[in-house]
Parts: sequence; C-alpha cells; structure tokens
Amino acid sequence: MLSTMQDVPLTVTRILNHGTRVHGTSQIITWTGEGEPHRRSFAEAGARAAQLAHALHDDLGIRGDDRVATLMWNNAEHVEAYFAAPAMGAVLHTLNLRLPAEQLSWIVNHAADRVIIVNGSLLPLLAPLLPGLTTVEHVVVSGPGDRSLLEGARARVHEYEELVAGKPTTYDWPELDERQAAAMCYTSGTTGDPKGVVYSHRSIYLHSMQVNMTQSMGLTDADTSLVVVPQFHVNAWGLPHATFMTGVNMLMPDRFLQPAPLAEMIESERPTHAAAVPTIWQGLLAELSAKPRDVSTLTQVTIGGSACPPSLMKAFDELGMRVCHAWGMTETSPLGTVARPPAGVEPGSDEEFAYRLTQGRFPAGVEARLTGPGGEQLPWDGESAGELEVRGPWIAGAYYNGPDAEPLRPADKFSEDGWLKTGDVGTISPEGFLTLTDRAKDVIKSGGEWISSVDLENALMSHPDVAEAAVVAVPDDKWGERPLATVVLKEGASADFETLRAFLAEKVAKWQLPERWTVIPAVPKTSVGKFDKKVLRRQYADGDLD
Ligand code: ADP
Repeated sequence: MLSTMQDVPLTVTRILNHGTRVHGTSQIITWTGEGEPHRRSFAEAGARAAQLAHALHDDLGIRGDDRVATLMWNNAEHVEAYFAAPAMGAVLHTLNLRLPAEQLSWIVNHAADRVIIVNGSLLPLLAPLLPGLTTVEHVVVSGPGDRSLLEGARARVHEYEELVAGKPTTYDWPELDERQAAAMCYTSGTTGDPKGVVYSHRSIYLHSMQVNMTQSMGLTDADTSLVVVPQFHVNAWGLPHATFMTGVNMLMPDRFLQPAPLAEMIESERPTHAAAVPTIWQGLLAELSAKPRDVSTLTQVTIGGSACPPSLMKAFDELGMRVCHAWGMTETSPLGTVARPPAGVEPGSDEEFAYRLTQGRFPAGVEARLTGPGGEQLPWDGESAGELEVRGPWIAGAYYNGPDAEPLRPADKFSEDGWLKTGDVGTISPEGFLTLTDRAKDVIKSGGEWISSVDLENALMSHPDVAEAAVVAVPDDKWGERPLATVVLKEGASADFETLRAFLAEKVAKWQLPERWTVIPAVPKTSVGKFDKKVLRRQYADGDLD
C-alpha cells in the first residue's frame, strides 16, 4: 500500500527558502581583521545566492550538474555559493586550500570543475596551478587580493561583485530529484589518495536535521555559532545548512584562524557555540592563558575530527566552555556520533566525564556494527574491539569516479553488503556509545598485543609540561612494532624522558611504555589540522631518532 503523504523532495533549495523566509533576519557575520566585521542577513545572502545563480547560468553558462568549485575561507560569499550552485542543479565542490598543490590540481581535474570561485587572498595559491587545470573555464574572484597574478590566464577572470550586481534577487529554482548530487568533497588524504564523496540533496537535508537535534548540536536562533571548522572540511560539519534550518547566526572567521583573532572575535561577537578540531582549541587555550579574555558567552564547544584529549576537555570545562565530543568522517557527512551522556548520570561526576570522552552515541539514521579480524560480528559489550562499519542515509556508499564511470567501491572501504568500513577501531557499549581506541593503521602491534597510540598520547598530554604528543609505531626486531613517543614541550618546560616515562607508568600498562622518545618542535599537521602521523612514520621508519 502506498502512503497518502505528499512526495516533496528533500532539497538544499528548500533549506535555502526556509532560511531566507523564516529566519531572514539571522546573520552571517564575517571577521575582517580590522574594524567592524561584515554583517549580512540570511535574507540578503539568499537574494545574493539567487544573483550568483543567474550569473553562473547566464554569464558563465553553467548547466546541468556542472561542477562549481570554491577555494574560499569561511565567509558570507562562501555560504552564498553553498546554496546557489546546488539549488540551480549544479554541484558545489569545496576545495581544501591546505592541500599540496599537486593534490589540489589532481582533485580539480578529477572533478572536472568548470568554475572556481576564489577569495582574492588565495590567488597566490591558485594562479600557479591554473595552467594545469584543464577543465576550468572561469575564475570568479571575491574579496581583496592581487588580481595581477591572474594576468595571462587561459580561464576567463570575473569579479564576484560585478557578476552579481544588477542580477534579479530571485531565481526560479528548478524542482530537483532529491537523490541528485548537490555537493562534493574529497577526503583529506590522511589515508592515501584523495577520494571524492558526492552528497545528495537528500543526504544533506537529513544530515542537517540531525545536526539540529537536541541530542546533537541542538542550537536555536538565539545562538551564534563560531564556525572555525573550514567550509572545505566536510561542509563545515554541516553547519551552514543546519543554521539555515534553525536561524542560528554564523560567525565566520574568514582567514583569521590564529588563536589571537579567534579570542578577539569570541570576546567581541560573543558566540554561544563553536566547532573545530582539537588543535585549534589547544592553540586557543594557550592564547587565553597568556592573555585572558572575556569568553563567557561561549558555553558549548563541539570538538571532533580527532580524539579530544581529556586534558583539553578539563581545561575547557574550567573556563566554562562545555565540550561536546563528536566523531565523523568525510564519508559520513560527517555526523556519526555525538557524546551526550545519558539521562541519570550525575552532572560533573567522573562517570559523566567518562561518557563525554567517548566518541558518543549513534543517532537514529546511523546504523553501526563492529567487525572482528576474521570478519565476524562482535557484540556491543563495551569490551570487544573491532573495526567500525556504518550505514545510513547520509553515509557514502561509493566514491566518485568521473561522470561516466562506475562509482568506486574499494574492498577496504566498503563491505560486500554495502556498509562503509571506517578504518577506525573501537568498542560499542550496550547503550550504543562508541569508544575508539585507534585508527586501524595507527594501532601499534607489539608482540601480538595492540597498543592504542591515542591512549598514550592522551596520557602524555595530561602532563603539565607537554603541549602536544604523537605516538607512532616503529619497527622492532623482537616485538614487530614498538611505540615511539614524539613530544612537544610547552614553552620554558624542561621535563625529561625519565620524568615523562614515570608519569606515563602510572597511567598505562608497563609493557605499553615507549622505549623511544624524542622532542620535536611541533607535531606535523594534515590539511585539516589533525596530527599527521604518516609524516612521523616516514621520518622514523627505521626506528632511528636522528
Ligand atoms: P581523513 O580520513 O582524510 O583524515 P576525515 O576528516 O574524513 O579525513 O577524517 C575522518 C577520521 O578522523 C575518522 O575516520 C577518525 O579516524 C578520525 N576522527 C574523527 N573524529 C574523531 C573523534 N572524535 N575521535 C577520534 N577520531 C576521530
């Protein structure tokens, strides 16, 4: 029997229309580095998205599912592109501006982007790549920057503001199939070559609703969210879409991502929420202890992208900022779990803290299972550790492989029955809380036992002298692999290995204690600010510390 319900496609267009009509006065506030930040209402951004769509269609000839790429910071224009391209039926492709040049070129060519909208400040990055970008016909420049860098470019160069000026502020948006592609994002490549994930209108719509659930971020139009996580990093964790559903104001840092301007924008624009990877918060913490600011409005902080060190969560709690830990991947849109303790757990108790440190609970819409080394399904008993596999309406089922080719389903990424293999190893408790012990490739396999690099790192980073610590496996004749601890000391700190080893010995089993230690000036970071252990592994591949 068919239902009697209306069959209304779940599209980004509907999110846009809702945001501009019902929450038209909500604001996108873009930090400019000097003077007043730039303020644009959702209604204005919606009108400008319509103008941009006219320009893309009429002046640049964008049709069908042509790819419109962005090489941009988090700002109002980037939000306009977020809505204009998908709503007109095209596909938004956010480019990660921190990728190495050759990877970026590879990705643009692979996606066959026809247009790149670029912030002027990023022209020094784009200009040298342009001759190798074979499909790019138009470059649209927004904001301050040296246009002369584009002289002689084969692609036609346009000014964003000139393109949109005078265009109609409404657009007859087409009715789209909700399964159609809306946006694409390549994985950041910590795990090998970048792979394209293509989000549908439907997946974005459903994911945005999940982000807004009380047990997820649960924000309202009384909130202002400081969106530090880049718009090129899994759609800023879905925030631009989710906020247009609920009217949450967005505070956009543009290119001012250093701890000092972040502290300044928190003090002056008074956001209530912020989202970013742990390294950003480590930096902010150091800044706030060196130069205290009034950050009292910021009471909720979403941390994800890599494990939140307990010491960081504690430090933020002490500042009155409640950390909410979440797990996800490019392939999961990204929201996969959120660590909200269950009812009945005493606020402030050790039990509550332990719940908050887990990766969190699966929301409705994300089914999970744990697979053991032999392919067997493991119980949700909080003890059996296996590889996490997930499935759901906002989880990737394949990777993009060009417009005419079959989608890619590598066996190490997708099970035969279609689940996404996350490459993350952990346990799930009977009530559905996920605890990740490691990434499969970061686990240290020592004499048949597994050592969690994350546990060692967290223990080390709780020492007052340690700013950062990354632990990687190095080859060992006797044990196969042993942990190597690379440690970044806080300024002026002097702890030696004996002290750190003794400190660690109180927290982990003796056989897990690293024998090899080295102090490094900084842990190498990936393009989205995570510890890049690939670099460390390469550097210490022979176990030699020199
Ligand atoms: P990449 O895989 O290229 O780094 P992603 O940003 O998609 O790009 O990263 C997803 C991975 O990040 C996850 O598979 C997981 O290993 C890690 N991750 C994300 N959030 C967390 C978290 N809260 N705790 C531990 N690891 C996390």
